[in-house]
Amino acid sequence: MDKIKDRQKLVLAALVVAAFLMFVILVIAEVRQGGRGEHPNKWGAENGDDTGHDIDNSGETVVLPDYITVDLLPINEYSRPGEPTDEITGIVIHYVGNPNTSAQANRNYFAGLAKSGATSASSNFIVGLEGEVIECVPLGEIAYASNNRNHDTISIECCHPDEGGKFNDATYASLIKLCRFLVDLYDLGPEDIIRHYDVTGKLCPVYYVENEDAWHKLVEDIFNYIPDTEGAVS
Ligand SMILES: [Zn+2]
Repeated sequence: MDKIKDRQKLVLAALVVAAFLMFVILVIAEVRQGGRGEHPNKWGAENGDDTGHDIDNSGETVVLPDYITVDLLPINEYSRPGEPTDEITGIVIHYVGNPNTSAQANRNYFAGLAKSGATSASSNFIVGLEGEVIECVPLGEIAYASNNRNHDTISIECCHPDEGGKFNDATYASLIKLCRFLVDLYDLGPEDIIRHYDVTGKLCPVYYVENEDAWHKLVEDIFNYIPDTEGAVS
């Protein structure tokens, strides 16, 4: 009789343990699924699928101008954290610092950081030597370019033919056009267009740090530019 009771107790205990284990496994599965189901950026697939439009930090859909090639970095901790920006209050201009490299090469370097982890770097846009514009990190998402201004600015890296860092005519023209698009989008003023130098004192973009007149002319050119109709907030 006791033996039977003992066996019943044993079976009961085994069932309880089994049920508990099932519960733990289910909880773990649920948590993992939840973690995976929750896309690492708040927009889900919408902001990452090269659709030609971004979801801004305000939740607005921004249709990008046709001249922008969307070639987003994979979401990763070194170049595209997938974190939303705060309200955008400025544009930060950079130079790539690597003479005669293309926009695509610089974009691929940022993408490669996901695996190499060599450093943290990226930008929202890169303007190339032929005036091509690549979007690496969508509007509404933080890029790693401008230190303590990453959270509230759009960053633009510019390619340049030589060490002097002066932008060629094609790069310059596209930069002006892109900045004007962003100025209108975010309702920015001339004082909101800044250099990396203005954030940290780094000599970037070097030519426009060493030549204040050229920098002021650049900002002026943005506000004198007459935008065409491509690209609008819908
Ligand atoms: Zn810079």
